[in-house]
Amino acid sequence: MSGARRPTHMRTITTVAEMTTARDAAAGTVGLVPTMGLLHEGHLSLVRRARAGCDTVTVSIFVNPTQFGPGEDLDRYPRDEKRDLALLRDEGTNLVFMPPPEEIYPPDFDDWVEVGGPIAERLEGEHRPGHFRGVATVVARLFRIVRPDRAYFGEKDAQQLRVISRLTADLGLPVEVIGLPIVREPDGLAMSSRNAYLSTDERSRALSLSRALAEAEQSVREGERDASRIRAAARRTLDAAGVGVDYVSVADEKTLAELETIDRPALLLLAARVGATRLIDNTLLRLPRIARSP
Ligand code: AMP
Repeated sequence: MSGARRPTHMRTITTVAEMTTARDAAAGTVGLVPTMGLLHEGHLSLVRRARAGCDTVTVSIFVNPTQFGPGEDLDRYPRDEKRDLALLRDEGTNLVFMPPPEEIYPPDFDDWVEVGGPIAERLEGEHRPGHFRGVATVVARLFRIVRPDRAYFGEKDAQQLRVISRLTADLGLPVEVIGLPIVREPDGLAMSSRNAYLSTDERSRALSLSRALAEAEQSVREGERDASRIRAAARRTLDAAGVGVDYVSVADEKTLAELETIDRPALLLLAARVGATRLIDNTLLRLPRIARSP
C-alpha cells in the first residue's frame, strides 16, 4: 500500500460495464467515497482518508433519485461537475464513477433494500418516507459494482452511517464501513452541498443549528443529564432563529433509540428548515467521565 502516492491520471467512468472492468484491473485495496457531488471539505476529508488507507481511491458522484421524496430538491440539487473533477484530481483520486440514473436503475429495475428497526424508521426515516430505502439500495448497488474493501461516510449524516453499517453487517457485505467526523465552516455551520441554497440572512439563521449543539454540549459538561431539558433548550434556540424544526432528538449513539437520561454516549440530532432549505446536524454528547478516558 502506498497511501501518499499521487496518481498522474484520474479516470472518469460513466457505465457499470466500464466500472466493473476498472475494478477488476485495480491494484491493491480499493476505497469508495459515495457522494452526490458539489464537493466541499467534508467530502474531501473522506477522500483524503481513503487516499491514506487504500491503493485505489474511487469516488462516486451520483444524485440518487430514489432517496428524494416527492416535492424535495432532486430537480434543483446543485451540481458543478467541472469543479468536482478538478478537486478530486488534486486529491489524487484514481477513479470517478459518475453514472447517469439509467445505469444504476435500468428501466425494469424493481428490487429494493430496506433496513428496518429504529435505526431507519425514526428521524429522517419518519420525515422522509422512502429515503433510507433509496439510500440502502444505491449503496448496495455501488458496493456490488465497485466492490470496495473500505467505504467512507461522514458523521454529518449520522443516521445514514448507522443504516449503512447495519445493512453491511446484516447482509455480510465484505466492506469495511468507516465513519468520519463532521467538517464545519469556521463559524460552526456544518458543511453541506445544500448550504449553496442559503441567502445571506438564511445562512446566519442556519447557525442556530450548530449553536444549539454547542449549547447542549456545554450543558452536559455542566452536569445536565435530563434529555427532555436538552431537547427543549435546543428547540428554543432553533425557534428563536425562526427556523422550522422537523425534529430534535437525543438518542443512544449506537441504536438511535430515544433517551430520557443521558447515561451513555448520546447523539443530539437536529433537522430544521431554513426558508426552503432543509438542514441536518448532530453532535455526540459525551459524559465527562467518558471524555477523560484515553
Ligand atoms: P452527500 O454528497 O451530501 O451525499 O455526502 C456524501 C458523503 O459526504 C456522506 O457520507 C456525507 O455524510 C459526507 N459529508 C457531507 N457533508 C459532510 C461534512 N460536513 N463533514 C463530513 N462528511 C460530510
